[in-house]
Amino acid sequence: MAPLRISFLIRSVYDILRSNANLVRWRKKDDPTCPLCQGRQTTEHVRSSCEVALSQGRYTWRHNRVLQELASVISATEGEIHPSSMSSTVFTTEGGVKKWHGG
Ligand SMILES: [Zn+2]
Repeated sequence: MAPLRISFLIRSVYDILRSNANLVRWRKKDDPTCPLCQGRQTTEHVRSSCEVALSQGRYTWRHNRVLQELASVISATEGEIHPSSMSSTVFTTEGGVKKWHGG
């Protein structure tokens, strides 16, 4: 994973992205308002709670971009995974019974 993506992920998990709410908390800005909906722009709000972003399809666009990236990676590695490499895979069922696939 690219370093910038890892950095974004970590800052997102620990809620230290530059959302307007955090900028107010850090005394870098006076107004925590979301420019799209006028709600309080927290990290969670930016990621999944803004009604305007939802109505404009922005979350769907982001979701589809992630899927495109995954499809690209899967296509690039297609053929690199051989069934014989799965011969020692152990699966554990909900009841704890182990089943072996292959081998
Ligand atoms: Zn909003």
